[in-house]
Amino acid sequence: MTSLDQVVATFASHLRSARHVVTLTGAGISAESGIPTFRDAQTGLWSHFNPEELASPAGFARDPALVWRWYAERRVKACAAQPNPAHYALAQLADLVPQLTLITQNIDGLHQRAGSRNVIELHGSLHRARCTVDGSIHSTWDYEEELPCCPNCGGLLRPDVVWFGEMLPRAALETAWAAALNCDVFMSIGTSGVVEPAASLPRIALSRHATVLILNLEQETAARPPLFTIYGKAGEMLPQLVAAAFHQ
Ligand code: NAD
Repeated sequence: MTSLDQVVATFASHLRSARHVVTLTGAGISAESGIPTFRDAQTGLWSHFNPEELASPAGFARDPALVWRWYAERRVKACAAQPNPAHYALAQLADLVPQLTLITQNIDGLHQRAGSRNVIELHGSLHRARCTVDGSIHSTWDYEEELPCCPNCGGLLRPDVVWFGEMLPRAALETAWAAALNCDVFMSIGTSGVVEPAASLPRIALSRHATVLILNLEQETAARPPLFTIYGKAGEMLPQLVAAAFHQ
């Protein structure tokens, strides 16, 4: 048995006996679906723009058409992408444990397309727009418009995502916090763990003596010593963990 096999087998035994599993996912879980992580985006097409220009209230006020173009491109890419085995493994896990809370920082909607229900979206969604005037939420809008308008009041719509300097949706954050406090197994998957407050969730779970797993492609400098670490692809390791816990 390699040390990786040992970690998988030991963590799988915790998973098998868990009452409440919390999973926190980040951009890394969608990397194998071809969606660039935050870091990849820094080397891609939009690398010459400062993220604060594209993802902040001030940037939107300065140039809303530029911001809409960026989000429109990301939405089209997310729609063209397919969920990968990691998304499907988490959807399957929900049917195998008594309680699963899936918290994501992603805005791509791939968990829902893999069949996960009640996904807690901490950073909003590419697939919704919000009116800057009346606050109404829209799941479709005129995608051809450079500056789409609210069908209710004619106000300017904006992507329903959380931008730099903005508060996270309160209900989502409270649910995520309570789940981290009350779970017995916590899995952090494909997130560099530097964006607060999501980055605190594994620490909260650890402080309550939950079994915590960090699954990432590579070791992150910001990682605190957790109980279990696996460095590998989520699309390979998550199906393996679920199989080791429930199908062997
Ligand atoms: P991040 O880019 O900072 O970190 C990605 C992490 O995933 C890294 O630790 C990396 O090692 C790991 N990773 C990469 N490929 C992996 C794989 N195949 N399997 C397992 N791990 C893998 O992303 P973040 O931590 O989510 O935080 C950045 C912010 O960027 C978030 O707020 C998020 O909202 C946003 N974002 C979202 C998306 C999306 O919706 N898919 C894409 C880009 C950025």
